[in-house]
Amino acid sequence: MLEISEIFCSIQGESTYAGLPCIFIRLAGCNLRCDYCDTTYSYESDISLSINDIITKIKEYDTIKLVEITGGEPLLQPEVYQLFESLHKDRYTILLETNGSISLKDIPKYIIKIVDVKCPGSGEENSFLLENLEFINQENDEIKFVLSNNFDYNWAKDFIMKYQLNEYEILFSPVSGKLNFQDLAKWITEDKLPVRMQLQLHKIIWDKDRRGI
Ligand code: SF4
Repeated sequence: MLEISEIFCSIQGESTYAGLPCIFIRLAGCNLRCDYCDTTYSYESDISLSINDIITKIKEYDTIKLVEITGGEPLLQPEVYQLFESLHKDRYTILLETNGSISLKDIPKYIIKIVDVKCPGSGEENSFLLENLEFINQENDEIKFVLSNNFDYNWAKDFIMKYQLNEYEILFSPVSGKLNFQDLAKWITEDKLPVRMQLQLHKIIWDKDRRGI
């Protein structure tokens, strides 16, 4: 059984898949407590479901074959690996959103990983497992920095330089209500930084505090 916070269909709001309809499977539980966390409700489970129940539920969304497994932190539940297999067998494109603190060593190659590196503004600066850089695939995976302020921006820039991540798909995402979007756009263009700025599209479309978006 997997502990689930919610399952819903929405528009993918982040990553290079932004804009596409996507089914979200939000697993419950997180080992971190980021200052800006917008899914605190996911710390506790709302429902326990078997893999079969989950697959039956998401098949209701019919033609949508893009699934994101998110949290909380989805890798805290070992059974998530069976969910990967079942979704893969059913030919879903699978995105995995993970907070970077848990080993990615055993994640199957067919999973597209979106891996957070927590910046100082999160309050979880030291959570990133450096050995994970070895398991992030340059072709398919994405590395995300959520930025609260200019200090975070420079910290992320230094991290990219230090670990030579220029060839990776890098996402810079401002914390809404904390970092002005135009300021971030200005810094990126002034520095000619080869990163993708992303706004959380789902929060622009819907009420930012709404669940299931
Ligand atoms: S890792 Fe994600 S779910 Fe966990 S506290 Fe941070 S923002 Fe919230």
